Amino acid sequence: MSKSNTKDFQVAVIGGGVCGLACAIALQNAGVPVEIFEAAAAFGEVGAGIGIGPNAVRALKAMGLLDAVLGKLPPGSLSSKGFLFYSGLGDHQLVYDYPPAAEDASISMHRAVFLDALVGLVDPRHTHFNKRCTSISEHPTSLGKLVVHFQDGTSHEADVVLGADGVKSAVRDFVVGAGGAAVGAANEKHVAFSNTAAYRGIIPSALLKAAGFKTQLTDRPACFIGPDKHVVVVPIKNGELINVAAFSARYDIPIGSQNLPAGTPWVDEISREDLKKEYDGWGSDITTLLRLMPEKTIRWSVHVVHPPLESYAKGRVALLGDAAHAMLPHLGAGAGQGIEDALLLTRLLGHPDTCIANMQAVLQTYSDIRRPRSQIVWDASQRAGSVYDHHGPRGPTVQGLSEDLRDIWKPVWRYDLDAEFQQAVAKLHGNAIFAQSQ
Ligand SMILES: Cc1cc2nc3c(=O)[nH]c(=O)nc-3n(C[C@H](O)[C@H](O)[C@H](O)COP(=O)(O)OP(=O)(O)OC[C@H]3O[C@@H](n4cnc5c(N)ncnc54)[C@H](O)[C@@H]3O)c2cc1C
Repeated sequence: MSKSNTKDFQVAVIGGGVCGLACAIALQNAGVPVEIFEAAAAFGEVGAGIGIGPNAVRALKAMGLLDAVLGKLPPGSLSSKGFLFYSGLGDHQLVYDYPPAAEDASISMHRAVFLDALVGLVDPRHTHFNKRCTSISEHPTSLGKLVVHFQDGTSHEADVVLGADGVKSAVRDFVVGAGGAAVGAANEKHVAFSNTAAYRGIIPSALLKAAGFKTQLTDRPACFIGPDKHVVVVPIKNGELINVAAFSARYDIPIGSQNLPAGTPWVDEISREDLKKEYDGWGSDITTLLRLMPEKTIRWSVHVVHPPLESYAKGRVALLGDAAHAMLPHLGAGAGQGIEDALLLTRLLGHPDTCIANMQAVLQTYSDIRRPRSQIVWDASQRAGSVYDHHGPRGPTVQGLSEDLRDIWKPVWRYDLDAEFQQAVAKLHGNAIFAQSQ
């Protein structure tokens, strides 16, 4: 239910992926006037699963979006499952059982289902498709106002712009000060190939079992780990389907030191035969699983925001989600960080003391708080991948791996979102941006 508008500013959200959509809906519900601009002809997500960790579940709940998501899922989909780690080699010995805990309830689902739940909540009167933002500029006559320029030659004036336009963000050019330089200058400076390929597919569980997959498939997610590679299997749709994400990385090339040759697509296809070759010498369950991947499997050359941005905000423009901090997916935490961003933005923009006059300070406070938080998760995600791939600090023995894997999700999952908001408000009071009396 939307509150009536009491604000003296209006917001443009650029990008309608999970983070932009969540943010736009929550703003709309908080009574903040918002228009959302999406480059594609409709909202859409790639066909794969997504994990919404406990922190992101709490953020969705705080934004009033959780019930809509759960409404699309079978009962019991919100539960605490921990994570099982098996060796990807030999006979797939159990390496570590990350224990479920009542406070760590999370959701695994198809991305399309998640998006569908959100799409049902966004106001279509304020939704604009086929609007690819190319740049943001300051208004030539109206001080502080912004102009969003689109590829089709049109533009839109806004008081506040939130860039949720993903890892290849156009809004980021404005925030890092590359405005005026060639379009995409910030991408060249701040986006790096992670030297990691991700291969994704969805396999019916019954098919996997019938093909002789021996490791017992429970309702818990599992990760098969080994040298330079790992394979994540997550049951979705009541365990009917298994979402597979196989990763293969190069550790001899530091992130940022060598990008893909210009023009190389970030998403392409690999034949099943070539995929099987990647995991040559791995255990029989991995061979079985790869045999059931599509004949042409989609390969993502995973790109990340690196080096980190110095700020997620400039003037009355701020970034959220992958536009700000695209990270390696090894803790299943990237979208969750964007959802956390959306929550803090909504809480701050919806705060009764926030107005156009103090917007710049409010967005800077958002950045000051969200930047360190999301960078901790960025670092933890990279570290997790290196542990799975036998490059962890304590080495690839069962004992070393167990020690490195213990509490690996704790900093991501056990984060106090209310304390974060209180911290932001205290900072704004302390700096006399918000009224002192509250
Ligand atoms: C293999 C893999 C597995 C992952 N698994 C998980 C997981 O389990 N859990 C998790 O939390 N995260 C996971 N992630 C990360 C997660 O997918 C991303 O963090 C998340 O999708 C980012 O959402 P976003 O809305 O910021 O960006 P995007 O999803 O990239 O959405 C950006 C939107 O903006 C639009 N757009 C782009 N450019 C423009 C423009 N110029 N103008 C207007 N619109 C534009 C796009 O069309 C798109 O709709 C995974 C990532 C990978 C690669």
